[in-house]
Amino acid sequence: MRPLRALGRFLSERPRSPEWRKVRKAHLREESWCKMCGGNKDLQVHHIKPFHLYPELELDPENLITLCERRGIDDHLYYGHLGDWQKINPNIVVVATSRGPGVPAPLWRPRREHP
Ligand SMILES: [Zn+2]
Ligand SMILES: [Zn+2]
Repeated sequence: MRPLRALGRFLSERPRSPEWRKVRKAHLREESWCKMCGGNKDLQVHHIKPFHLYPELELDPENLITLCERRGIDDHLYYGHLGDWQKINPNIVVVATSRGPGVPAPLWRPRREHP
């Protein structure tokens, strides 16, 4: 079985709860920087345990982490999903340790080229 990439992404990244917008906003207020690079641009709220497998954790603040989707960096894709939207990085919390804006997490290399 090989679902479409776009579908996989849709399922894992587009929660449908009417509460999601509020929860996402509240999360971004608390954690307003990317947990990998410390940046504050193009932020996304990533589900540590994927929403489509753990729908009950959709709104659980413990299951959320802020990652960016900046062009050329895309920590959400590379760290949150190991470069493939079908995948999930179970170690994202261990890996992502940026403590605040502008403080990068210690370098950890997934399958990605560093220029
Ligand atoms: Zn980032
Ligand atoms: Zn994600």
